[in-house]
Amino acid sequence: MSSIRSVADLSVTEQRVFVRVDFNVPLSEQKGELTVADDARIVAALPTIKHLIERGAKVVLGSHLGRPKGKSKDTSLLPVAARLAELLAPLVKEVKLTDEPIGDGARKVVADLRPGEVALLENLRWNSGEEKNDEAFAQKLASYADVYVNDAFGTAHRAHASTAGMIKFFADDKKGAGFLMLREIEYLGKLRSGARRPFVVVIGGAKVSDKIGVLESFVRMADAILIGGAMANTFLKAQGKELGKSKVEDDKLNVAKSFLRGAELAKVDVLLPVDVVVAESPDAKTSQTVSADAIPKDRMALDIGPQTVKNYAGRITSAQTVFWNGPMGMFERPLFAAGTKEVAQALTRCSGTTVVGGGDSVAAINEAGVGDKISHVSTGGGASLELLEGQELPGIAALKQTGAAAATTGGSAS
Ligand code: ADP
Ligand code: MG
Repeated sequence: MSSIRSVADLSVTEQRVFVRVDFNVPLSEQKGELTVADDARIVAALPTIKHLIERGAKVVLGSHLGRPKGKSKDTSLLPVAARLAELLAPLVKEVKLTDEPIGDGARKVVADLRPGEVALLENLRWNSGEEKNDEAFAQKLASYADVYVNDAFGTAHRAHASTAGMIKFFADDKKGAGFLMLREIEYLGKLRSGARRPFVVVIGGAKVSDKIGVLESFVRMADAILIGGAMANTFLKAQGKELGKSKVEDDKLNVAKSFLRGAELAKVDVLLPVDVVVAESPDAKTSQTVSADAIPKDRMALDIGPQTVKNYAGRITSAQTVFWNGPMGMFERPLFAAGTKEVAQALTRCSGTTVVGGGDSVAAINEAGVGDKISHVSTGGGASLELLEGQELPGIAALKQTGAAAATTGGSAS
């Protein structure tokens, strides 16, 4: 961590500064036009961008959006550029969007930038070189900047041209992390070492297979692990319970059993639902609460029940540290959202450090309107889980000071 330089410690005045941001935001269509449906990720990058503008840097932003197979109108960053310009006003007059991620148009926009101005390169994934971490593409991007900053924690677990490949072209004193990235590393790093006890982990969501890695690493760190969501079904079945029509990963029953045995040996409390909300189908108009021991054959478990909520809330409110990933039920349907909402509320009553990561869990926190009562809401789903598992994220590793000279881009673009 100490081997990563903060953007605050880079000299950026009148320099072209490339900032890898995570503007992969949801879009929605309004009167035939695409607009940003949720600007949280753009807002999260503002401290770094404003810092650079105020220091008189020439700011060159790069991001991906969606999973384009090439250039396409529906994956253009145009709505993002518009929203960013609104958020940055009156600090800047406009955000100049290039026509392509690289090429003559992009080169000219960057060359014409004056100190304090902001350009946004078009969707980096329009060029297949981005995800392939292609050398020529990385070198081209690097030629647009004197200084490299990464503030895209959400993509730090991917070794792409803009998150990894291009960084070798920058010397130690020309590369660093943005404020968002530093905050993510600080909060998530503290969970791995130095979390105050009791440390309670709440894991839910769709699949055991997505999260077994992080569950296993929490056995070494946490005092209690509270399991909800569809993933709890697999654990309940592993304990011999009947799950009716519930979603269960039958091929993960042994993984679940050996996790429960390992947690017992490590003396970590694992809490599973004692009651669940069941219905005939996710589309049902009515639901019932039943004991986890008495799930009817023709019903499926779609949320944790009120007694389980009470058990979990008790552990959460008395903890010194809480990490939450994954909703407790099919929270997209109001009938099955109570468990997730109650867990979100319990986090706000905890006086310790609370951290939430994961796309759907963060959405649930925002829907409940309690984001500002959580110590840290992570912008990275997969990235936060990989970091907590102890994996080295390529986007973070590449920022570390190397002591070696930078590779040369073979001439500047401006
Ligand atoms: P996150 O994005 O926070 O990591 P996941 O993607 O793992 O969370 O899981 C979220 C999905 O899990 C949601 O779409 C939710 O509807 C689904 N889910 C949660 N509980 C259940 C359940 N009991 N049955 C079916 N689906 C569930
Ligand atoms: Mg998800």
